[in-house]
Amino acid sequence: MTEKTAPQPTVFSLKNRSTPLIISGPCSAETEGQLLNTAKQLKATGIVHLLRAGIWKPRTRPGSFEGVGAVGLQWLQTAKAETGLPTTVEVATTEHVEQALAHGVDVLWIGARTSVNPFAVQTIADALKGVDITVLVKNPINPDLNLWIGAIERIKNAGITEVGAIHRGFSRYGEQTYRNAPNWQIPIELMRKFPDLPMICDPSHICGRRDLLQKVSQKALDLSFDGLMLETHIDPDNAWSDARQQITPEQFHEMYKALAFRKPIAEDLEADPLEESRLKIDRLDEEIMTLLAQRMDVATAIGSIKKLHHLRVYQPERWEVINKRMIEQGADAGLSQPFIEQYLKAIHAESIEKQMNVIND
Ligand code: PEP
Ligand code: MN
Repeated sequence: MTEKTAPQPTVFSLKNRSTPLIISGPCSAETEGQLLNTAKQLKATGIVHLLRAGIWKPRTRPGSFEGVGAVGLQWLQTAKAETGLPTTVEVATTEHVEQALAHGVDVLWIGARTSVNPFAVQTIADALKGVDITVLVKNPINPDLNLWIGAIERIKNAGITEVGAIHRGFSRYGEQTYRNAPNWQIPIELMRKFPDLPMICDPSHICGRRDLLQKVSQKALDLSFDGLMLETHIDPDNAWSDARQQITPEQFHEMYKALAFRKPIAEDLEADPLEESRLKIDRLDEEIMTLLAQRMDVATAIGSIKKLHHLRVYQPERWEVINKRMIEQGADAGLSQPFIEQYLKAIHAESIEKQMNVIND
């Protein structure tokens, strides 16, 4: 009698899908019932490929819910057995990796507070040596592309072949629209440098609130992201973590149906001939926005220096020089004088405002 060979566990593939890769599930596993019900409802949508749940939660302040721990891995196993959905959890230590592997988790992800630390990433990479599993690396909390690349390289150097990146936005100080600034030019640059690296967007942690999820998800798809990781919960308002950004599986399904899945590039005559140019425009607009923000950061720094040396904010001679030079450069670049003048006026007003804020601080 020939012995049956045990089926080889297959590595979860991030590529070659006809539709975007969809990862969804609660921010945190809270109870077995909550996880199981969320998983069942997600399965019923038919759009989800991978079930996520945080088991160990890296919280900003102590005292908030820090995850159910390893017991949640058993719940994930049950959810997988009942729905057939493969699973993914965040790992931050060697013990997390070992426990997740022992419980048959299909995909591991490295969180933003871990990918920021090369020591921590290397420890995880070492624990993964000789293991065949898919790993997703979230961007570090600060907008440092090389740190993100470094984390991905450490995982790849450990022999992991199926590696993807997750864009979850970047921390910055002060109130703002987004919980974590998208800085789209950073994931775009990563995609440009590593065209084969699957790139997934996490609109939940970028937005931090429900009303922006649709717009950010659409933007990610339009910027050629390969998939979305979106937090869902059966009772979002009462979620134990990240309540404001979670939606129900059904709401996610509705949102998904409203998304436009545009073609990557015009491959045939039926394709929208404007698509490629519009994509370019979107990317350029993002870059311009980043440059403007950088310019204003410098203005703020100048404000501090002026404050220190008791100098006035508005120095007409200096502004005259800038104006003259920019109008000349604009003309050389084929841009009309009224346009440049309007642009300079807006820049100047904002720059003065920033400096005033510093001086009067
Ligand atoms: C999460 O996915 O729940 C999480 C903690 O994400 P991040 O590492 O992006 O903050
Ligand atoms: Mn979360």
